[in-house]
Amino acid sequence: MSDIERPAPQPDADSAPFWAATLEGVLLVQSCLDCERGIYYPRSVCPFCMSENLTWNLASGRAIINTFTIVHKAPPAFAGEVPYVVALVDLPEGVRMLTRIVGCEVGDVHIGMDVEVEFSPLTDVAALPYFHPVA
Ligand SMILES: [Zn+2]
Repeated sequence: MSDIERPAPQPDADSAPFWAATLEGVLLVQSCLDCERGIYYPRSVCPFCMSENLTWNLASGRAIINTFTIVHKAPPAFAGEVPYVVALVDLPEGVRMLTRIVGCEVGDVHIGMDVEVEFSPLTDVAALPYFHPVA
């Protein structure tokens, strides 16, 4: 256990709905009402068409691992957690998230694996969306 404080999300006007939902165990993903594309991370303007006409959608919670790495040497705040998996996962909502894969041995993780979200409590304003293999 490290005595170094872990970095934590600092919700702002754009990301506050996302982080508030994590405390309820809900994954929200933005989408653009004009070009209909999914958007992640949260922001105030669509990165594809520059529209400010955005909305929040309840995500399915499912994803597929696009790629990953196994961390063996971590920054001090995470040193007690190695080895762990950091992955890019593709959601059916059309967005890619950087996350951690939990709930299995690191050697069992593979590209194309079906995963599902869970939330790791962190602070009183945010829980972190991690993913575990679908049983
Ligand atoms: Zn758009």
